[in-house]
Amino acid sequence: MTSISQNLALVQERIAAAAAKSGRRPEDICLVAVTKTVPPERIKEALAAGVQHIGENRVQEAAAKIESIPSGVTWHLIGHLQRNKAKQAIQIFDLIHSLDSLRLAKMLQKRAKELERTVNCLVEVNVAGEESKHGIIPDQLLPLLRQVSLLPQLSVRGLMTVAPYVKDPEEVRPIFRQLREMAHEIDKLKLPGVSMEELSMGMSGDFEVAIEEGATMVRVGSAIFGARDYSEN
Ligand SMILES: *Cc1c(COP(=O)(O)O)cnc(C)c1O
Repeated sequence: MTSISQNLALVQERIAAAAAKSGRRPEDICLVAVTKTVPPERIKEALAAGVQHIGENRVQEAAAKIESIPSGVTWHLIGHLQRNKAKQAIQIFDLIHSLDSLRLAKMLQKRAKELERTVNCLVEVNVAGEESKHGIIPDQLLPLLRQVSLLPQLSVRGLMTVAPYVKDPEEVRPIFRQLREMAHEIDKLKLPGVSMEELSMGMSGDFEVAIEEGATMVRVGSAIFGARDYSEN
C-alpha cells in the first residue's frame, strides 16, 4: 500500500469511529479529499484508493489539474471565489462551498443563466467572527438566504464553516454546534431553493468532533496527503 492509501484507510476508520460514537452511519458522511498543492499523480493515487470527492481552494489550480483527472470525480470548491471566476467555477465544480455575499450570488446567477445551469452551493459562515476569515457573519446569514432564495439558478444545499485553528479540537465543538443549530433554524423556514441537508465542517485536525456535531461533509487534506508543500506555488 502507498502512504496515501494507508492514510486514507486510517481517515476512513476515524470517520467510521466518530460516526459510531454519535449514532450515525459512516456512509452519511462524505469525505472530500482536499488536493490544494497536490499534483495530479498523487491525486490519482487517492482516486485509485477510493476517493470520489476532491476539494480545491482555487479555480485556477483546479482548471490546471482537471484535464489530468479522470471524469466521474465530484469537484468541490472550498476556497474563496472571486466574481470574475464565477463562470469558470460553475463549469468545473459540482458544489461551491464558499458562497458568502449577495454580490457573488448575483454573479453566479447571471453566469449560470448564460450557461443554462443550476449552481449547487453552500453558504460559508464565519461562525467565530474571525477577522482573517471569509464567510458571512451569523447575523447576515438569514438576510442573505432570503435574497439568494429569489435567484432561480442557485440551489443552496446547506452551510459550511472553517473553524479557528486550535490544538485541542474540543475547543471548536461549540462552533460546529452553532452551525448545526443555524441550519436547523433555517430549515424550519422552508425558503424556496434553500435546503439544509449538508453541513460542510471539519478538517484534518478536527473532523471527528465535527462529525459528532452533525457534519455531512468533512474536508480533509493533510491527514491524507501529508503536510502541504507550497514551495512551487
Ligand atoms: C486546506 C483546507 C482544508 C483541509 O485542511 P487540512 O487541515 O489539510 O485537512 C479544508 N478546508 C478548507 C477550506 C481548506 O482551505
